[in-house]
Amino acid sequence: MSAWETVIGLEIHVQLATKTKIFSSASTAVGAEPNSHASLVDLAMPGTLPVLNREAVNMAVKFGLAVGAEINRHSAFERKNYFYPDLPKGYQTTQLAEPIVGAGSVELILDDGSRKTVRIHHAHLEEDAGKSLHEDFHGMTGIDLNRAGTPLIEVVTEPDMRSAEEAVAFARALHSLVTAIGICDGEMSQGSLRFDVNVSVRRKGEEKLGTRTETKNLNSFRFMEMAIKKEVERQIDILEDGGSITQETRLFNGDTGVSRSMRSKEDANDYRYFPCPDLLPVMLSEEQIIELKNSLPELPAQRLGRFAQQYSLSDYDARILSSDLATSDYFEAVAELSGDAKLAANWIMGELTARLNAEEKSISECPMSAPDLAELIARLKDNTISSKIAKQVFEACWNGEGSPDQVIEARGLKQVSDSGELQKMVNKIIAENATQAEAYRAADEAKRKKMFGFFVGQAMKASQGKANPQQINELLMKALNS
Ligand code: ADP
Ligand code: MG
Repeated sequence: MSAWETVIGLEIHVQLATKTKIFSSASTAVGAEPNSHASLVDLAMPGTLPVLNREAVNMAVKFGLAVGAEINRHSAFERKNYFYPDLPKGYQTTQLAEPIVGAGSVELILDDGSRKTVRIHHAHLEEDAGKSLHEDFHGMTGIDLNRAGTPLIEVVTEPDMRSAEEAVAFARALHSLVTAIGICDGEMSQGSLRFDVNVSVRRKGEEKLGTRTETKNLNSFRFMEMAIKKEVERQIDILEDGGSITQETRLFNGDTGVSRSMRSKEDANDYRYFPCPDLLPVMLSEEQIIELKNSLPELPAQRLGRFAQQYSLSDYDARILSSDLATSDYFEAVAELSGDAKLAANWIMGELTARLNAEEKSISECPMSAPDLAELIARLKDNTISSKIAKQVFEACWNGEGSPDQVIEARGLKQVSDSGELQKMVNKIIAENATQAEAYRAADEAKRKKMFGFFVGQAMKASQGKANPQQINELLMKALNS
């Protein structure tokens, strides 16, 4: 047992899925020609003025409502001043003293089934910066301002997490929440969700928090877990050698697994924050908030409870299947169409997930449609195919050979349940294996049990796996015992 306790607080940038930018009418679409989605406002041309995007405000409020937070009826924008080539205004428009979303919380269910509440300190609206492109221009840096002015909310948690696993569980919960309420596309690899992790350690039993470091811009759950674990080790090593931790901002390289110091921590007053004179305060009415509240869809936590109840799933199954919207929708479609939620759950969490993982695909890229998987399950239930054959059919469907019914037909995989045909098969097997049959009849109960498998194996081989297992067992038993 370690003598140290880990303390983690997260700051998360969530890119809002608005069509246009937070202060201009330029498109937020990614993948366009550099600087083709940068308006005069985004380019910071003199004489231009920002106009606040109402949809960005609505999305921030929806987030607040989804985490049970106070929604501030009055919030205001401030300028955070610093120089960087991808920030042509020389300041970021953000919120500091009066954020739009106040304190809230997110409840997590950890892998061992236990529950944990992580408090949200606040969430504020702000704009994203542009991008510096270092690789495409030899000896120079390119500036792409397409991303400049993309609306973000920055969510700041209290230092409530106590391990890398808890931090990742929170990150996953946040991901499923913001995608469920439709305020973010959740594309981590494109930076739609970026995590800054603040990490400190303290001796167990100590009340006072240790000095923290902040590792910025982690955009995968795996990198986040790696970065935290490394940082905890690094801090403990330093402290055990009698050293002290420097409060600093660090960068983590996912390819090498190494982090390095980027700069010493700056204070808020280094940025000369002041109220933005170009923007009016944001005022929200009670009606607006109620309307947004009514527009919220089912939240992941509600869906989890409903899945466990409506489909009689175990807590574990319900948790996995309700974890994101795409998986939930897929599961519900298969469960309804096949009429068997338990089998739907087993197939999705077993075969399907294994196959998706092997091909590094997400469920929205799954080549097997929900109706097809439901058809496969239906054929299992009505005994058209055995579970062994079902795996073959699944494979064939996955590889684009058609629907389960088409594959079963084309490959002649229908289970043989015709008792006349099966009886003939049994007679033939016993005739061809007369010595074994005689030995079976002479053996005692215990030995017979072991020997029986041999005959079943022969029958399955003869029928290429298509004999109805229950029927073949009964017929063999009868023939051998007579
Ligand atoms: P700052 O004003 O310097 O940005 P904040 O108080 O806003 O600091 O905290 C930023 C983030 O760091 C929050 O997510 C918070 O939970 C976390 N944090 C603060 N102190 C610690 C600490 N000692 N250990 C770990 N995380 C911390
Ligand atoms: Mg802060």
